[in-house]
Amino acid sequence: MALGEFELIARYFTGDRFAYQPGAGVVLGVGDDCAILRVPDGEDLLVSIDTLVAGVHFPARLDPAHIAHRALAVNLSDLAAMGARPLWFTLALTLPAIDEHWLAAFADALAVLAQRFGIALVGGDTTSGPLSITIQVHGAAPAGSALRRSGARPADEVWVSGTPGLAALGLRHVLAGSRDTVAARTFLRPEPRIALGSALRGVASAAIDVSDGLLADAAHIAERSRVALVIEPRQLPLAPELAALAGRDDALSLALGGGDDYELCFTAAPGRAPAIETIAAGLGVACTRIGRVEAGEGARCTGFVPRRAGYRHFADD
Ligand code: ADP
Ligand code: MG
Repeated sequence: MALGEFELIARYFTGDRFAYQPGAGVVLGVGDDCAILRVPDGEDLLVSIDTLVAGVHFPARLDPAHIAHRALAVNLSDLAAMGARPLWFTLALTLPAIDEHWLAAFADALAVLAQRFGIALVGGDTTSGPLSITIQVHGAAPAGSALRRSGARPADEVWVSGTPGLAALGLRHVLAGSRDTVAARTFLRPEPRIALGSALRGVASAAIDVSDGLLADAAHIAERSRVALVIEPRQLPLAPELAALAGRDDALSLALGGGDDYELCFTAAPGRAPAIETIAAGLGVACTRIGRVEAGEGARCTGFVPRRAGYRHFADD
């Protein structure tokens, strides 16, 4: 390898672009055996990790900037789902070879998103092997206030942010070679709903981010809350590109079963609707009521069975 592991880390994953604010709780960042981090007083630490494997979670030839964005965005989305404020992340990078063009584009895009969300890169691991990116994020929320999947109650309403299904349509576009559609951009650059998640603390009764597909993720809330979530297909907010699809069944299947949206699906008591509308308007993020919580179990959509209900590793072909 032309560039050693330590030079690689120094060149691409340290420096001003990944510098953190004083007060970010980083006592010691990249460079020692461990990072030393201080959890803010009165807050809980929230931790989540996600691996993206080339050829499994993204097409192997995807632009490195998009790979970096997605890898951090999907992790930030987990913090968003629980209403946490991003603090720190670590990066485990497995690379088939040292390609400096690839690394520069990857690190640039990672730094842009990290700065935008004020999350500090505090360590990682660099190994050689088939391309895979693992990011672990750490966030904080006032003690006891993080949103969970388990708080939905019968008579609550079900909400979703954004326009679910657009990212799944975008993946089709990307695989067909077009990256300039609204849908393709939604797939390539998912926007973690950090501000929305924070604002929903104390307002939503349960929340999850939509990574596997709306119905599959709604089912996780149902399971953890021991209730049923019933989605009304007519209320689903279809993006224009989805609504324009020839088959309405195809559009609904994407909206209900397509993954990769990283929108939030949440439940709230009906009396919270005005507060949610104020939050949505203030943030410029559409939030739409799509159904209700009932006694029972599972998530279903009235009168409609989507073709594919979420992606399960090791379970699908
Ligand atoms: P060790 O052998 O003690 O595990 P490493 O040689 O793997 O340490 O890493 C040296 C330092 O560089 C550590 O502080 C580690 O957190 C950091 N590091 C390694 N790889 C990355 C990476 N891809 N991004 C950011 N920091 C990294
Ligand atoms: Mg060590």
